[in-house]
Amino acid sequence: MNELDQHRYFFDSGIRFQCQRCGACCTGAPGVIRVTDEEAKAIADFLGLPVQEAIDTFLYPWENGHSIREDGDGRCLFYDEGCRIYPVRPRQCRTFPFWTAILRSQTRWDSIRRDCPGIGKGYLYKKCEILDILEGK
Ligand code: SF4
Repeated sequence: MNELDQHRYFFDSGIRFQCQRCGACCTGAPGVIRVTDEEAKAIADFLGLPVQEAIDTFLYPWENGHSIREDGDGRCLFYDEGCRIYPVRPRQCRTFPFWTAILRSQTRWDSIRRDCPGIGKGYLYKKCEILDILEGK
């Protein structure tokens, strides 16, 4: 058991979550979605585009990798009545809402829960599974 496992969290008894694919987290307020080089290549392959063309069209440089462009309303460019790259979406999308910035405070969690209909439904993630996600395992 590592140090994180011994702390008490509001999610000690687990959290049910199953994405309903409503798109609420893909639209609305602007945000950064980190895309690694490997993820950019997977997205390009999935779309049948050369990697550089996919990068130029959908991404912009961010820190050591890229982020996804959004339209003027904060809508992810890959969102069009559903995620167009769902099977190869970046890790940051796959791990929502289990992000450190969200889980570090009950207040932040409660605010995300109001907008995400997937929270409270489906699979019950155990505390240890949530911590694994937070640690990037
Ligand atoms: S807001 Fe929640 S349910 Fe809707 S697409 Fe995002 S993760 Fe899925």
